[in-house]
Amino acid sequence: MKTKIFTAIFLLMGISLFAQNVNNIQMPELLNKNSRKTINIPDILGYQTLKCDFHMHTVFSDGSVWPTIRVDEAYNEGLDVIAITDHIERHPSKKDVAGDDNSSYEIALPRAQQKNIILIKAGEITRSMAPGHFNALFLNDTQALDVENWRDAFAEAKKQGAYFIWNHPGWKAQQPDTCLWWDEHTELFENGMLHAIEVFNEKEWYPIALDWCMDKNIAPHAASDIHGINSEMYNLKDYHRPMTLVLAKERTQESIREALFANRTVAYFGNILTGKEEYLKAIFEASVKIEFYREYEKGKTYIIANKSDVPFVLSSEEDLFTIPANGETMVNIPNGFNNWVEVKNLHVKGTKNLKLKLEL
Ligand SMILES: [Zn+2]
Ligand SMILES: [Zn+2]
Repeated sequence: MKTKIFTAIFLLMGISLFAQNVNNIQMPELLNKNSRKTINIPDILGYQTLKCDFHMHTVFSDGSVWPTIRVDEAYNEGLDVIAITDHIERHPSKKDVAGDDNSSYEIALPRAQQKNIILIKAGEITRSMAPGHFNALFLNDTQALDVENWRDAFAEAKKQGAYFIWNHPGWKAQQPDTCLWWDEHTELFENGMLHAIEVFNEKEWYPIALDWCMDKNIAPHAASDIHGINSEMYNLKDYHRPMTLVLAKERTQESIREALFANRTVAYFGNILTGKEEYLKAIFEASVKIEFYREYEKGKTYIIANKSDVPFVLSSEEDLFTIPANGETMVNIPNGFNNWVEVKNLHVKGTKNLKLKLEL
């Protein structure tokens, strides 16, 4: 009898131990692990190479996402710094979305702090050409720029210590057949209200604007100007979103500000880098390692490795070859080769590529 009771107890225990939970079964394996991509562009010249996108929108202007989504995207894609630049004068969702020109920053800031993304307070001064659209960064009160006259908006931003970026200078909605520098831009430039130009915006590149940057010592930028969901817009499998590389002493807002005002930027879009020769050369040299492999009848064979995300497309009088991103290539260099190459996807001017001597 005793045995039977024990058996019954054990059976009951067994049922309760191994019974399936019918109330709530968690399946975390279905979730995105919140993983962050790494953008491989080396630090150079004693600076940190920070990956920044200073132009994007939310529902607080004509974008379609909530401000915290911009932080999540930036985190996932490996960025260090973003600025949400909602149009100061354009609020198509005003009927459904309360708040003002300061709201997108205030909503996104706690998420940015949580995810270690540096968020810069900013807005897009949205005027007809000229002067067109300008992002003003490092604002205290974006709402105060919402005034009728564009010159008053710029003066207010300057009073707040703003850094000014001329956005999409060749945007066809404003300059249909050309990309022109107007008298208003000279006025802004001479009065310390034009520090940078987007040589690339969304999917458009304006080589002539890179010439303006290099001729006048203005910082070249690249930006997404994203309005919808970034992963819907860009092919993130093969490329990063367009971004501005900022060479900063530290990964802090103050350091970024110092670096921007000192013009230490490189515009990065697709597989292209544009900017000052010394920065592009330093990125190339920090990325590439050349190793002698063996001699052959007419010269030497080298293995050239590239630890950056940018493939380098090299041409010389002898040949054209690519050092793949995060990979290596084997090349035959004939005797008598003068070692000078042109890097076809690194632009120091609108129509001028970086030239350098390979250390073979
Ligand atoms: Zn714009
Ligand atoms: Zn914009």
